[in-house]
Amino acid sequence: MVDKIDKSDAEWRAALSDEQFRVLRQKGTEPPFTGVYHDAKDAGLYRCAACGNPLFRSDSKYDSGSGWPSFWQPVSPDAVISERDSSHGMIRTEVMCGACGSHLGHVFSDGPRDKTGLRYCINSVSLDLERDGEGE
Ligand SMILES: [Zn+2]
Repeated sequence: MVDKIDKSDAEWRAALSDEQFRVLRQKGTEPPFTGVYHDAKDAGLYRCAACGNPLFRSDSKYDSGSGWPSFWQPVSPDAVISERDSSHGMIRTEVMCGACGSHLGHVFSDGPRDKTGLRYCINSVSLDLERDGEGE
């Protein structure tokens, strides 16, 4: 099980950059093709930028052409939580960190057909890549 993390807005604001706070805690979106990871091909583990919870492995990352990092599955079913999002006049499924509830992005059903068929469209600013060999 993923341990739940609960912090106040003031605590998050102190812990995160302004851009991270805007995306992770206020459900913002970074402009496409601007994030540090949309084109990243390094092998490693993508963790939640807010709390460090493991979210996605690089081997489930693929180039969707959307301008955001795209993955076809999370590291485990409870690594992320999804919820219906009807903001901005669209019905979408929001993806949040399974541990701290921070906003990561959205999941769409136009992912790779030979995999899960899902496209987890995630903001770079919500992610922190631990490259293989680092951090041990
Ligand atoms: Zn988190």
